[in-house]
Amino acid sequence: MKYINAFILVVLFSFIGASLHAREKGETVFQTSTLSALMEGVYEGNTTFGELKKEGDFGLGTLNGLDGEMVGFGGKFYQITSDGKANEIPDDAVTPFAVVTFFEADKTVSIDGPLECSDLEKYILSLLPSDNIFYAIKIDGRFESMKTRSVPKQSEPFPPLAEVVKKESVFELGSVEGTIAGYWFPEYLSGVNAAGFHFHFLTADEKTGGHVLDCKAGKVRIGIDYNDDLQISLPKTENFLDADISDASKH
Ligand code: ZN
Repeated sequence: MKYINAFILVVLFSFIGASLHAREKGETVFQTSTLSALMEGVYEGNTTFGELKKEGDFGLGTLNGLDGEMVGFGGKFYQITSDGKANEIPDDAVTPFAVVTFFEADKTVSIDGPLECSDLEKYILSLLPSDNIFYAIKIDGRFESMKTRSVPKQSEPFPPLAEVVKKESVFELGSVEGTIAGYWFPEYLSGVNAAGFHFHFLTADEKTGGHVLDCKAGKVRIGIDYNDDLQISLPKTENFLDADISDASKH
């Protein structure tokens, strides 16, 4: 009997060890720079996509010079330029703002729409176990409609993001298959990242996508990765160090 108890104890400890290991690897969100810095025109960072891939295989952001929208999943990262074209990003390209994680869904559900984007968000909110942690969200399948945008590359002196967005290109992609890589952050992280939902999209043929403005989900699968660790690496560029990002409350 004693022998059996010791055996159970050993099994129990190995389970605890395994879950601690998974926690270290899978529950950290890594980001370079902050959203408030990007809003102020900090479009020059020094993190390469090669370095970013060591921190996650899934995420969103942009490229130096605010050269389009970035979306990534399955270890591949794509740039959608302001002409609407998607290209895989080389490892030596540099990002001023990106958020990534090693995506492992803690919860997966399937829905058969049509469901408007705003209702899809409400539904996802109802699935979240807490408003106080943050989530990576992958939605893939058929969208009955998809409206995205991208932004044109900027040169110095960099205008604030609000000015650039006035010149955004908008794409109505119609009925399309593809993948959304997104995040949900709580309000208390506003300024550090975008509070609420933030979705970027890539079509299944890898030809186009962008920052999601609106959509209607058809038959899609939703994966939600619960995260409770946030690592922020700040750019070591003059553009970042000299920017006035002290008043994060205005964002
Ligand atoms: Zn975006």
